[in-house]
Amino acid sequence: MTARTVLVTGGTGGIGTAICKRLADAGHRVATNYRNEAKALAWQSAMKAQGYDFTIAKGDVTSPEEAADMVRQIEQALGPVDILVNNAGITRDGTFHRMSADQWNDVINTNLNSCFNVTRPVIEGMRERKWGRIIQISSINGLKGQYGQANYAAAKAGMHGFTISLARENARLGVTVNTVSPGYVATDMVMAVPEEVRAKIVADIPTGRLGKPEEIAYAVAFLASEEAAWITGSNLDINGGHHMGW
Ligand code: NDP
Repeated sequence: MTARTVLVTGGTGGIGTAICKRLADAGHRVATNYRNEAKALAWQSAMKAQGYDFTIAKGDVTSPEEAADMVRQIEQALGPVDILVNNAGITRDGTFHRMSADQWNDVINTNLNSCFNVTRPVIEGMRERKWGRIIQISSINGLKGQYGQANYAAAKAGMHGFTISLARENARLGVTVNTVSPGYVATDMVMAVPEEVRAKIVADIPTGRLGKPEEIAYAVAFLASEEAAWITGSNLDINGGHHMGW
């Protein structure tokens, strides 16, 4: 295999950490962004203790300027980004009739506008080099909607439109663009949901359990591989069968 430079946004989070590790295990050079330096340095040294040497660069993905600067720093350190995983995301749940403009804008900016902010500085290089992998981490709720998540579902659904348009524009240039849509995975984001709500969610999942971050990372590594060159504009649902029978 060819060792590539990878940027995973939100790499310090639950799913992001698993993706960083999996792509490093595949032999790639892996970088992520941070907003809080102390938190990122603690994560980086915890990873080092496990044998992983990840590059970190400061950058809030909601800012086009910070995202471009973060890509510049990573490319200076590791070379051009060939694999981008748009993974950074947040929730700010609430029923729509009570939702504030901040709740709406924070979620759209972090989950969807970030895809523009981070992909824009890497896409031209991928097109010139005629090789690239761009993978969005969307959500089951971007496909089926969720009570209290009009903002999140809108952002995650938007990622699909972004993916299939970008896939068409770049299909002949060796750049594939795909989406992975996880169901409920046991990370801080989901463990913050009240226990009784979580129990109801798990009862609805045919496999009877939450997903593991590593199960999402496995799919990302598959889509990022050389062999996945003919998969573009696709969405991979990974949710323990939760998507069946909507
Ligand atoms: P976590 O909350 O564990 O991690 C989120 C990561 O995103 C953190 O590293 C966080 O960094 C980063 N981040 C958030 N906002 C910004 C920002 N403005 N700029 C830069 N980085 C930012 O979440 P998960 O690992 O659970 O989720 C990862 C992705 O998977 C998200 O897009 C989420 O929507 C999606 N997903 C998750 C599911 C789940 O069940 N967990 C289900 C379906 C989809 P910081 O430390 O600075 O906050």
